[in-house]
Amino acid sequence: MSQIVTRESDCVEGHLEGETSWQEAMKLAYRDLSELLEALGLNKKSVTTVVDERAGADFPLFVPREWARRIRPNDPHDPLLQQVLLNSAELLEVPGFQKDPVGDLASQTNPGLLHKYHGRALMITTGACAIHCRYCFRRHFPYHSAPKSIEGWKETFATLRGDNSIQEVLLSGGDPLTLVDTRLAELIQHLDDIPHLQRLRIHSRMPSVIPQRVTEQLCNILRSTRLGVWFVLHINHAQELDGATCEAIRKLRRTGAVLLNQAVLLRGVNDSVDALEELCLRLVNEQVIPYYLHQLDRVAGAAHFEVPVQQGLEWLDQLRQRLPGYAVPRYVQEVEGRASKTSLEQHVG
Ligand SMILES: *Cc1c(COP(=O)(O)O)cnc(C)c1O
Ligand code: SF4
Repeated sequence: MSQIVTRESDCVEGHLEGETSWQEAMKLAYRDLSELLEALGLNKKSVTTVVDERAGADFPLFVPREWARRIRPNDPHDPLLQQVLLNSAELLEVPGFQKDPVGDLASQTNPGLLHKYHGRALMITTGACAIHCRYCFRRHFPYHSAPKSIEGWKETFATLRGDNSIQEVLLSGGDPLTLVDTRLAELIQHLDDIPHLQRLRIHSRMPSVIPQRVTEQLCNILRSTRLGVWFVLHINHAQELDGATCEAIRKLRRTGAVLLNQAVLLRGVNDSVDALEELCLRLVNEQVIPYYLHQLDRVAGAAHFEVPVQQGLEWLDQLRQRLPGYAVPRYVQEVEGRASKTSLEQHVG
């Protein structure tokens, strides 16, 4: 009789995080730049990026320790550090970079409900995130206008109930998994009760930021809805996929949810064909499909992260030569007013 051999994961060894709850992890997150740098063996002079505390005035530094532990110490170029470091370049005004780069506000049909695409509506469930990504396209979003309680969403539920064309609701934010499980369960129950809804999509960075957020209770909630669950992770670099994140992914996979990933093409983070290849391989090895690679949305404060489209296209071409078809993400850009995300690739023949 042959033995079933458990597949060796190529994920790097993670630490056990059983002791700290995810809520505790949020409380313990670094909010002070000097403290974060000190923990990494760096100081403001050693980081080649010119750091500037003023970049955090409207959008403060927020980095959980679980994330900081995956940053290579003493390395000012670390790709995870670059995603969270306050940078003086954020203060520059660059033509073409705006507060609402993708027309989110124009697509609001109810407070906190964005309806841009046929059959899908997106709920801004919270303004809170488990990490502050400096390139975030919603870094200037007026979150205070979105509902904060189930009561506040009543009209939105009525809108969804009254529109048979909507089959899928996306929970976004902010990060919907900053809501506690009971709140989330309540929200999902209301959606579950709308007969024509078929699918629930959750967009979250939690599995790669605070992996212990994927609790048994959360998994049970995902298992118990009649809606088909599509879980979209947001991972930009292979180094984010440590043992704890892979374990969180496995837990999610066992709920039966389909797992996708979206990444943003970012200068200084994943701007090489090798970095993109490694990310895609690590994802598919965990049975996560690389869904989208986003061209940076031109949000004010993020210009220094931009990679030219032409460069991205060349890397995509090389990825296609190196990887199975399902491991190559769609390279897209969001253009205001279009009926879908815009593919940047020219398909010939
Ligand atoms: C990106 C986005 C979606 C999802 O688009 P897909 O192409 O289906 O992934 C839905 N609603 C809004 C407002 C979006 O920005
Ligand atoms: S987790 Fe998502 S919404 Fe939150 S700051 Fe990062 S990119 Fe923006």
